Amino acid sequence: MTFAALRRFVAPIASATILVVAWASMVAHALSQAPVATTCRSCGNHGVVDCSKHKKGMLETERNIAFCSAAESCKACSGALSVDCKQCTNEAAQAELARRVETVRAWREALRGKVDAHSKVEPMLHLQTAHCDLSFGVPKLTVGKEKIDTHEGMHLYGDRIEALRALYIETLRCEEKEFSARLAVYMCRDSRQANELGPRVTGLGGNFAVGTKLMGLDAVYCMWQEPRGLPDDEALHRNIVHNVVHLLTANLEPAGYFGNPANGWVDEGLAHWFEDKIGGKCTNYCFEEVLTQQGQTYKGGRWRPAVRLLLDSGGMQSLAAIGPKNTDQLNFPEHAQSFAMVDCLLTSHGGEKFKAFLKQLKAKVEMRDAMQSVYGFGPLAFDKEFQEWVAANYSSVDSPR
Ligand SMILES: [Zn+2]
Ligand SMILES: [Zn+2]
Ligand SMILES: [Zn+2]
Ligand SMILES: [Zn+2]
Repeated sequence: MTFAALRRFVAPIASATILVVAWASMVAHALSQAPVATTCRSCGNHGVVDCSKHKKGMLETERNIAFCSAAESCKACSGALSVDCKQCTNEAAQAELARRVETVRAWREALRGKVDAHSKVEPMLHLQTAHCDLSFGVPKLTVGKEKIDTHEGMHLYGDRIEALRALYIETLRCEEKEFSARLAVYMCRDSRQANELGPRVTGLGGNFAVGTKLMGLDAVYCMWQEPRGLPDDEALHRNIVHNVVHLLTANLEPAGYFGNPANGWVDEGLAHWFEDKIGGKCTNYCFEEVLTQQGQTYKGGRWRPAVRLLLDSGGMQSLAAIGPKNTDQLNFPEHAQSFAMVDCLLTSHGGEKFKAFLKQLKAKVEMRDAMQSVYGFGPLAFDKEFQEWVAANYSSVDSPR
């Protein structure tokens, strides 16, 4: 029925109010059934429009992630990021909008008992990305020259953690199915918040200087931006890179804590390798003494020249000597050498072999057997290859990238 025909049909009885309402709904029905539909100029017939209450550019940022608690607190859209179009009616779109609001609400509600209840002093913001649950309380950051607030900082770190995970997978030629856990990262406002929350989310007791991790089947890291050790955004970023690499390495199938007993050089070396790759320096260590001496670095974190000097001065250790040490037993020069040994293996033989080697070590194969079966040489031959490689590839003069 056309609009004109409908009008002729309805006209004689249109004076009764109740029928006017019926007429309106019939018109709406007829219009929605018509083959040539009019387009709602407000929403393009999507039935919803963008929520206008978010900062410029933030809607796109929010749509790139799964959930954000700052978006959820928007009074206009409750985190759905869209609102109902007032100019038209679209029941399917409205139902979808209501479903999205409920999904966001349920996600946020679950975090109240899990995190908010244990970080009462200053509530944290929360973000869910494809592979990470991030709770964030870092008050403000200067990134390059730009000052950003807690909400923007959280999205930045959510993106950085996803990028790191993708780089790890690409470097070691991993498959998604080799990881069983989502990453859970808590970047707290201060040491009080970190020490309140840390034991709750990791199940590990005791105070810690910067951070605490639960690794293996779970992948949890809780930390705060300790100002001497992590004075700026770059240092904070390197800390997250180093520790998230530990979480990924431990969760990589076969899942389990790695680097104790023995093989700390592989565990630390790989964490340092990504720190250097992304941040250009290595400034994070997992050994007890250093946790009480924040802000200490070895050779300014520039380890290629440091390792070259070790070689030239005869200070290089054999793999047989360094291999049995646990992650937390390595001293500064051993950390640097561990980084370089991993650099040599990854650069000369590729990520696929390194992953195979790592997985054998995780499956408790003896290091010399794992090396022999994956690389075809043992620790003695590696010492020779490694020292020649350092001589050929590392200069004692630093050349920052
Ligand atoms: Zn509309
Ligand atoms: Zn957000
Ligand atoms: Zn909104
Ligand atoms: Zn470490």
